[in-house]
Amino acid sequence: MHDRGLIAPFPLHSAFSAAASLSAALRIARQMLDEIVAHARAEAPNECCGMIGARDGAATSLHRATNAEASPLRYVVDPLDQLRIMEELEADGEELGAIYHSHTASDAYPSQTDINLAENWPDPLYVICSIADDDAPDVRAFEIRDGAVREQELEVEPARGAEA
Ligand SMILES: [Zn+2]
Repeated sequence: MHDRGLIAPFPLHSAFSAAASLSAALRIARQMLDEIVAHARAEAPNECCGMIGARDGAATSLHRATNAEASPLRYVVDPLDQLRIMEELEADGEELGAIYHSHTASDAYPSQTDINLAENWPDPLYVICSIADDDAPDVRAFEIRDGAVREQELEVEPARGAEA
């Protein structure tokens, strides 16, 4: 296994290295996507942000965080929220599957600011929710590593108990 050498802005738990295996699609429930859109709308016009816990490539928990920048153009997951959420994930046996944030006036694609920010934290997927078109919110996932952006498939699962 290639050593990706985690570089983060503050000490992190070992759960992070486990997320390094997440280069493939993330499975996510429709309801969780709806929760991300709801969070984006609640914080608009500022960007919202948060973290998604995962097990075995499937999103298992959504954790809202404070955008320390409180800005419509950028986000920084509040450092204390990061620590708190990582402790919760570790306690629940989850990995950090993704970091999510919203774009309130642009497409669901990483900005240069997002790409720069990801240099410090290359392992998780980045989920971006655009509510620029309020009638058609768009949620997409990306791997952002070494300045390169690669879209990753979000495999949307029907709500529990609703399988065909
Ligand atoms: Zn962004």
